[in-house]
Parts: sequence; structure tokens; C-alpha cells
Amino acid sequence: MKDLYIDFDGVICNTIDITYKMIDELKIDKKDNAQILKFYKNLDWFKVLEEATDINNGIERIKKIIKSGKFKVSILTHVNSVEEIEAKVKYIRKNFETIPIISVPKTISKTQILCAKNSILIDDYVGNLIDWRKAGGLGIRFDLDMDGKGFPVINELDEIIEVF
Ligand SMILES: [Mg+2]
Repeated sequence: MKDLYIDFDGVICNTIDITYKMIDELKIDKKDNAQILKFYKNLDWFKVLEEATDINNGIERIKKIIKSGKFKVSILTHVNSVEEIEAKVKYIRKNFETIPIISVPKTISKTQILCAKNSILIDDYVGNLIDWRKAGGLGIRFDLDMDGKGFPVINELDEIIEVF
């Protein structure tokens, strides 16, 4: 069984769409890293995840991936605050009783927290995929428009079953 790590924001859940809309409404410049960091640190994640939905039926598709028996599936997510971890765990546990949830501080690469070698990461953020590949892992980009930006790409999570 291969280790498969699935990103949360922008892959499982549409939290990026919701928070980018909020950032626009607050007229925060997306290039202003300090302001963006502050925004995500102070964000009410419970509220965001109440209105959030999964992308392309991601939850049901992850259940299919687990059922295939081909992968040891974990959720691997960058976080900005302890409250963000709490809110994400609450959201994920509604659907998955036992799936491991690994939270990584935003300032640290996902590859610093676990061993990427020979493991698969599905992520929407190319920076994470580049780090993953450098560490000997296999990166798959999740993108609704199927733009892989140099990586194999999927827009429905259970497509991974056919890739391996
Ligand atoms: Mg993401």
C-alpha cells in the first residue's frame, strides 16, 4: 500500500474560494504577505468551514480511494492557528472517523514534517509539489482546469485509483 497524502484547502474543500472572497471584500492586497498572514491567523475557521463545501464530491471520492485498498490515506494540511486545526478536525471527523489528519505550520514545508520519499501528495499549490518532488516524493496536482504546471494532474480525487 502506498502512502497517499491529500491536501485540504483547495483540494478537498473550497476554503480558498471563500477566504479569497473575504480578502477581496476587506480590500487586502494579496501580495502583502504580512497582511495575508495576519488575516489567516485571525480568521474564524469554524465559521468558514460551516459555509464551506467539498470540491467535486471530494469526500465521497476519498471514501472510494480508501475502499480501493491501494493507499494508506492521510490528510496533510497547512495551518495558521490552533483554532484552524480544531475547526478542520471537526469538519473532517464528521465524514471520516479514523483518517489521520496531519497539520503543518504554514511556515514549514510539508516535507519537514514527514517522509515524502516514495509517497504521493495531491496538492493544488505548485510550491508544495516542487518541495515534495525534491524530497523524493511523487506530486500530483489537483486543478479543476486540469493545468498540471509540470505535474500529473487530476480534477476528481478518485482518478488516483487508476493512476496506480
Ligand atoms: Mg491547498
